[in-house]
Amino acid sequence: MSKILIVEDEESIAELEKDYLELSGFEVEIANRGDIGLERAMNEDYDLIILDLMLPGVDGFDICRQIRREKNTPIIMVSAKKDDIDKIRGLGLGADDYMTKPFSPSELVARVKAHMDRYNRLISSGMPKNDVLEIRGIKIDKTARRVWVNGEETAFTTKEYDLLTFLAENPNRVFTKEELFREIWDMESVGDIATVTVHIKKIREKIEFNTAKPQYIETIWGVGYRFKV
Ligand code: CA
Repeated sequence: MSKILIVEDEESIAELEKDYLELSGFEVEIANRGDIGLERAMNEDYDLIILDLMLPGVDGFDICRQIRREKNTPIIMVSAKKDDIDKIRGLGLGADDYMTKPFSPSELVARVKAHMDRYNRLISSGMPKNDVLEIRGIKIDKTARRVWVNGEETAFTTKEYDLLTFLAENPNRVFTKEELFREIWDMESVGDIATVTVHIKKIREKIEFNTAKPQYIETIWGVGYRFKV
């Protein structure tokens, strides 16, 4: 069951939110002080946090900031003052949503569900499905950004690594140099598609036994490159 933490010092509001959320099938805990809320948020795992701004102990600004340093739990910040909401939006504290009190409990429930769904989708799509890529003699550890060629760790520059990993993750597909440049180098980068050629050459020197007869990254003349599996 999804667990929600409500950090709210006004008891009637906290209880009302809790009732509605429980009716919707959530498990709910209330912290009526900022310091208590922060401690629970940091030490326990919640699926979502509803955070009031003005609180005794520690205020919502600080709580949000501290949670975000360590956790991605969705946070909905609430305040009675619209001005405050505008202010916190501008601060970029990392909250996922903002609501001005009073709000209808059903609106709160709707937003809670929406954020939880989005977060769960994010988690499942972000699950390391391919943390380690292994293609014949090449092993790429994506978490550590390390590469082994025939069992020997080999150093790659950031862009070489990005390019190699991108190609290896999309095997047997031909990419033009333009596509690769757009994919690996951001728009502000100085350079052009010749950069791609240079990087492919350097990667080949590190992974290929014979660069004249590449076994991994093939040149498709007049088109581009493809990683052969
Ligand atoms: Ca308050």
